Amino acid sequence: VRFSDFGLSSDIQRALTAQGYVHPTPIQAQAIPVVLKGRDVMGAAQTGTGKTAGFSLPIIQLLLAHANSSMSPARHPVRALILTPTRELAVQVAENVQAYSQFTPLRACVVFGGMDMKPQTETLRRGVEIVIATPGRLLDHVEQKNISLAQVQMLVMDEADRMLDMGFLPDLQRIINLLPKQRQNLMFSATFSPEIKKLANSFLTDPVTIEV
Ligand code: AMP
Repeated sequence: VRFSDFGLSSDIQRALTAQGYVHPTPIQAQAIPVVLKGRDVMGAAQTGTGKTAGFSLPIIQLLLAHANSSMSPARHPVRALILTPTRELAVQVAENVQAYSQFTPLRACVVFGGMDMKPQTETLRRGVEIVIATPGRLLDHVEQKNISLAQVQMLVMDEADRMLDMGFLPDLQRIINLLPKQRQNLMFSATFSPEIKKLANSFLTDPVTIEV
């Protein structure tokens, strides 16, 4: 399997070449076609498997189908939301998303706690299609009306097991209640505990399970 088999846009292929990626990893080979079809996914994958590109690349591809170059926030509603348990992971995922989308008109930003809200607020208010966030800080921005989640079409819960361990379930439920009912959901977890299965059953619709 090669990246060119997925029908990704030339802007994405260019970014992959710039990153030096030639062959998709096993999780990428499984996840990319399934996400492109619009299916929900439950992925069992550890860090280091390439799961970030496995969900980011098809998300970017799907968003590009409706991209435009207007600079107004109204024309750049948040359409993909990626939730992570920690600020370190949020920053790492955001760096990946930014690298993969660098030749596209899409905009991404990262928000996490423990830091001044102001620079994040300014970026959010200019409009971004992809937000990578830790749950608590995202809700702070929602409360301050810096961000609307009313047009989110894709939700990713990355390292869902760690989010549960860290007590983020109530925040996750509050966030999900703010999203449109009609959306695509992707969940990744290193483990498949009963709690994770319960979360998957409540948040995912007829998911495709991917294990590597
Ligand atoms: P992740 O598991 O998503 O944290 O990715 C682990 C590392 O593998 C990151 O440094 C990625 O940049 C890198 N990576 C992801 N996919 C590929 C690929 N197809 N070829 C080479 N490196 C990759």
